[in-house]
Amino acid sequence: MDERLKPKMDIEAIRSEALTCTKCRLAESRTQVVWADGSLDSEVCIIGEAPGFNEDKQGVPFVGAAGQLLDKLLAEIDLDRSQAAIVNVIKCRPPGNRDPQPDEIEACRPYLSAQLNYMRPEVIITLGNFATKFILESPLGITRARGQVYARKGASIVPTFHPAAALRGGRFGGISTIDAMREDFRLVRGVLDERRAAAEARAAASTESAAAEAEQLDFFG
Ligand code: URA
Repeated sequence: MDERLKPKMDIEAIRSEALTCTKCRLAESRTQVVWADGSLDSEVCIIGEAPGFNEDKQGVPFVGAAGQLLDKLLAEIDLDRSQAAIVNVIKCRPPGNRDPQPDEIEACRPYLSAQLNYMRPEVIITLGNFATKFILESPLGITRARGQVYARKGASIVPTFHPAAALRGGRFGGISTIDAMREDFRLVRGVLDERRAAAEARAAASTESAAAEAEQLDFFG
């Protein structure tokens, strides 16, 4: 997105507020708040569920085994963490890695909303049920939702399985969970390539029309 069209937002102030947040019970058990990794200035936002054991210790999302698999899948489509923002639906680890509770998701909603409003990402990859339901605002489970691209608020949304599900193994519709994720990441590559080609075509068209205007000025000048 054109940087000039992005709303001015003091995302650092919101981050500071999040780092000391006590809006839900997870504040009592967490080691630290896990805000984001990568860059909130990139075009791609990857949304997971909640920090796990390693993330809670290090303060960085997706640093454990699931994170290593995520890095591998990104590398397969020529992306790395510096070219994406990596965030979670909730910013604090639920004890024992249990599922986030609805009231915890609601308490944390303003932080993810602020991150997305600041970023205005072109592409959002949702990993697993919680992120997918949050973004698509639909009860559709990940098994049904994945495998296609959705348009929401100017962004392309690509839901896929959570990497932890791929690590557990299992198959989906005749292929392994990891191969299903590979298919979804190829969709991401396709969307990025298409968006880039469209931006280049727009730039070429505006250069051409500027040149034509200059020629006309010359002609009548
Ligand atoms: N799983 C998630 O959903 N997020 C993390 O940051 C780590 C594991």
